[in-house]
Amino acid sequence: MKYAGWQVGITYQTKKREGLDKKYLRNLLREMKDNGMNFVSFMVVTHGLNDVLHDGYTWPVRNKRLRCYMDKKCTNAGPKTEFLTEIIEEAAGYGFHVNLTDNQFWWNPKKAKKGYPLIQAAEIQGKDNKAHQRYPHCADNSDTWRMACDAVEDLFGFYASQAVKSYAFEMIGRFQGCTCPDTMKMFKQSLKTAGLESKSENKDLFSLWEDMRRKEALEEFVIAIKKVNPSLEIWHHGYMELTDRGSYRFSPASYEKAGVDVALPCIHQVTDEDSLKKVLDSSKDFPLVLHVDTRDVSTLNYNIPLKNQEYILSMGRWIEKNNRKNLTGIAFFNEPATSAVNKKAVYKVVKNWRKKGLLK
Ligand SMILES: [Zn+2]
Repeated sequence: MKYAGWQVGITYQTKKREGLDKKYLRNLLREMKDNGMNFVSFMVVTHGLNDVLHDGYTWPVRNKRLRCYMDKKCTNAGPKTEFLTEIIEEAAGYGFHVNLTDNQFWWNPKKAKKGYPLIQAAEIQGKDNKAHQRYPHCADNSDTWRMACDAVEDLFGFYASQAVKSYAFEMIGRFQGCTCPDTMKMFKQSLKTAGLESKSENKDLFSLWEDMRRKEALEEFVIAIKKVNPSLEIWHHGYMELTDRGSYRFSPASYEKAGVDVALPCIHQVTDEDSLKKVLDSSKDFPLVLHVDTRDVSTLNYNIPLKNQEYILSMGRWIEKNNRKNLTGIAFFNEPATSAVNKKAVYKVVKNWRKKGLLK
């Protein structure tokens, strides 16, 4: 493995309303270095849906339209109080790989609409057979796409430093079963181009098209990121196994075709070795960084199995036993919501990997 380190939410699950500060992160970097870590990821957005105390972007957003989504109470979001620029350089000085992570196409629709009035929350059929609009936004809508691209442009316009090596994002804005007007318009246009107009009611054809469109959206988004910063490594935060099934996942082949460099699957639900093996096997030989949850604090609206010391130590052993060539690293998540006891276990695991040469 090349990397092991913390993923840190600037405001996500932080005790203080204003989020973390420079002193906190400075101390954390030193602690990480002392414990053999060499990777840090800063999560630059929090959504009120998951953490009711915090909501919005955590950097000084410069794009006027995008400012609707800025968390104005966050210290790092203030142009005069911003400190992450300095922290990033400090981390790079320690030799760390620095990553920035965002959650795209997933916004509080009321807030996002202020800057992007045409934005379209995906209309997904619920158990009651009615279409519901929630946080997921549909990539087929022009304002939705604009907001996602504007966020990349603004974030990496601000953090343009060569010290930032990679960008990870979650979602892609293609949700299975979305029948919003923009999606249906796009679907009909594709049928027309292919001379299949008469089959517009065909459900199988719609699923096939959705699958193709999802992969296409990923490819287009990678191109948009590369336009802003061609040297960034692109990481995608998927969920569990790497497969083309579902709205949030991609197979290694699809990632490769789209130009994604690393898969960063969320494995919050992995609580035994067999499930971990399934995720590892599904990656074939595609570069993989595992997103290992270490939290013993849940959020109000997002229930995940809480993790303890035993879990972290077991995970360390399972990874050691099932290590493979394409396992590039581990991102432990989320430092501000991990107790001192759990952190101690994480450092024990990392030191052990170092000792055994698993982490170079
Ligand atoms: Zn749609």
